[in-house]
Amino acid sequence: MTERTSKNSMLHIDGAQGEGGGQILRSSLALSMATGTPFRMTGIRAGRAKPGLMRQHLTCVQAAADISSAHVSGAVVGSTEISFEPGPVRSGDYHFQIGTAGGTTLVLQAVLPALLVADGGSTITVEGGTHNRAAPPFEFLERALVPILNRAGAGLAVRLERHGFYPAGGGRVVTTIDPARAPTAIALAERGERQGARATAIVSRLSPSIAHRELKVLRDRLGLQPDELEAVLVERPIGPGNAAFVELRYEHVTEVFSAVGEVGKSAETVAREVADEARDYIAAQVAAGPYLADQLMVPLALLAGGRYATGPLTDHSATNMAVIEAFGGRVAVQDGTLVVEQLLRRARQA
Ligand code: ATP
Repeated sequence: MTERTSKNSMLHIDGAQGEGGGQILRSSLALSMATGTPFRMTGIRAGRAKPGLMRQHLTCVQAAADISSAHVSGAVVGSTEISFEPGPVRSGDYHFQIGTAGGTTLVLQAVLPALLVADGGSTITVEGGTHNRAAPPFEFLERALVPILNRAGAGLAVRLERHGFYPAGGGRVVTTIDPARAPTAIALAERGERQGARATAIVSRLSPSIAHRELKVLRDRLGLQPDELEAVLVERPIGPGNAAFVELRYEHVTEVFSAVGEVGKSAETVAREVADEARDYIAAQVAAGPYLADQLMVPLALLAGGRYATGPLTDHSATNMAVIEAFGGRVAVQDGTLVVEQLLRRARQA
């Protein structure tokens, strides 16, 4: 699936492997930037109905290239093959505009990991969608992922400046990054006692009744109290949109499950999807849910590694494991726990 050609020591990553989506590209960009390993990717998003780079993926490539002064070929919309040769990672202030409602949190997936281990602090502003189908909503980043990365030694803060929904986009997320000077390994064997739950429904330029219908389903299905329900009506909306999410707070981890509204999908269906995922997680008794499991892997490999108990390996997690291994790292599954070894060993002094 992957090979290193001795001629130019450029790693070849097969973008069609495993999940065959955009995540292979984002993880490869992150690992390439942080390790200084050049790569060539073929079969980009071969597993998707419309293969090749879409705007979000292209922004990932351009952002990664900008931050690491990379030499890139094939970076155009629709391309199924690119090569990426990074230079040194330069921390600083960056602003990336996807130009569509493509996921801002996915662009961060590509560029954050290398900046967590850079020499200085950065501020990254990304404009596009903030609540997208099949992508982490802003609140997942803020409440589930970032707190764990900060426990691993990073100093990350994320701010939602404007909501962005498909198709209008126009959302803005600002991330400040203070790199980890003394990273520590994460040990997440269990979630601990439940400390609280909260359901939120967001509507942008749509009837507030959508939020109220979603909250009713979430209340009934998850046994929530009235003070655990929140309707957010977006001020100065750029376009119509709706998302619902549930935050489950435990002693050692917070999880966020979400869904976005779509034309032709009832508010009740949106909320039921969220409730089903939350209930699966509650019943599974694991620490990291399926999304957190794949998204922790790359940043932890670059920080000090770690282990976390999770459910059955998803395609996204299995694919990320393969990509990390291609870049010289190691992730193993031991009795339902994902064990991520430290890939970068740095003698950093605090
Ligand atoms: P494509 O597959 O079309 O290329 P993509 O670039 O959006 O699309 P995927 O490879 O499918 O990428 O990766 C999606 C990422 O979003 C994964 O890291 C996955 O964990 C995350 N994700 C998807 N849905 C959620 C969700 N509801 N909450 C948190 N994270 C999510």
